[in-house]
Amino acid sequence: MLIDTHCHLTFKDFDGKVSEIIERAEKVGVLQLVSVGVNLEDSLKNLKLAERFEGVFATFGVHPSDASTWEDGFLDVFLEKIREGWDKREKNVVAIGEIGLDYYHMRAPKEKQIEVFRKQLQFAKKVQLPVVVHSRDAFEDVFAILEEEAMESVVFHCFAEGRKEAEKVWANEWHTSFTGTVTFEKNEDLHEVAMLCPDELYFLETDSPFLTPQKYRGQRNEPAYVIEVAKVMAELRGQSLEQVEWQSTKNAQSFFGLPRVE
Ligand SMILES: [Zn+2]
Repeated sequence: MLIDTHCHLTFKDFDGKVSEIIERAEKVGVLQLVSVGVNLEDSLKNLKLAERFEGVFATFGVHPSDASTWEDGFLDVFLEKIREGWDKREKNVVAIGEIGLDYYHMRAPKEKQIEVFRKQLQFAKKVQLPVVVHSRDAFEDVFAILEEEAMESVVFHCFAEGRKEAEKVWANEWHTSFTGTVTFEKNEDLHEVAMLCPDELYFLETDSPFLTPQKYRGQRNEPAYVIEVAKVMAELRGQSLEQVEWQSTKNAQSFFGLPRVE
């Protein structure tokens, strides 16, 4: 089986199609999906999906591009919802994310992004959840803040840096996650990272509806296509597809605390 560790089932491209998208994913062995929140409203929608579909899990977070929407009361809402899951003895929220810094789009001022990022990192530590990090043209600041906050469970989602940065991430036993961008032929720096990544430190994801793998380019992306990411990872790493499926699933299940399914 495979896990799509990062998709956005709430985005409007998927409106009214979530059931069929989950079915198509199941058909190719993608049995668990982590649907990632980008602001408070979206996080609550993801939680609803997680409650409705067995293989779907939610994250809570405010994306750096949504940092201007931040209100301090958000963390109380997060906490209340996470507690409800604990009370029901189910893990309804599996990570805090996606959070981070985006100096490429710069949709909120730097200082605001940093403030919102830090608050959510501190919250993640308090509730003992891993963090899903979005970093775009901001690696140095993101990395420094994660170290200052002494974060333990971290994934750099859609890793897009080179070997030097990847090695710093791995040295802290943080994870790098690969999307359809690794399937692009010209992405040689990323191919090198995918090849060198330690077995225990990677996941696979689609970031759908964005970042469609090479094979389906021009179409909307969806969780079933994480299989294309797995195939290319196997090729680059000189491993069998089964090995990549097994390892990436094991890594993701232990990071997010997902139930084992056969
Ligand atoms: Zn995303």
